[in-house]
Amino acid sequence: MTTAKASPADKSIATESAASNGGQTGQPSAPELRAHDVTHAVADKGKPVNVKSLPVREGEEPWTKAELDEVRTTLEEDIVRFQSQIEISTAELVGLLRDGSEGAGRDPADVGSANFERDAEMSLANNAREMLDQSKLALRHIELGSFGHCDNCGQPIGKGRLQAFPRATLCVTCKQREERR
Ligand SMILES: [Zn+2]
Repeated sequence: MTTAKASPADKSIATESAASNGGQTGQPSAPELRAHDVTHAVADKGKPVNVKSLPVREGEEPWTKAELDEVRTTLEEDIVRFQSQIEISTAELVGLLRDGSEGAGRDPADVGSANFERDAEMSLANNAREMLDQSKLALRHIELGSFGHCDNCGQPIGKGRLQAFPRATLCVTCKQREERR
């Protein structure tokens, strides 16, 4: 039970690269299209990913389309959430900055708490922006069929880990090594 099931993936990698330069090879459009996928309009970005070609760790079953769709949905929902968070924070910041510029001669304590509020809002916005970028990157990898490789060592990040942390870019080993630094 080791490497045997990895071999049929080679072919799908080939179709992947063929599709990216031209995309007129109207190939495996619907290997396992189910009702679930049809209703899943948000995830429909056109070209289907061969889920079986995505890397998994030893002992893990290959990705199924439903599992990948679930991760994709999570990421898409996160993107919407982070975007509205950024919008709200930006609006708040605009308000805070306006209040700040009008506040000549205010109590220093008020100015202090206004600054604190502004900094908190800013770090909230920055964090949301970072998470937004990471979510978009993960989605891009899903679309390109390159989802699930560790950024550091290139080994599979692992399906279980990605289901828990769809934005993970490192395998557990590399992540732990990074945290120890
Ligand atoms: Zn790694």
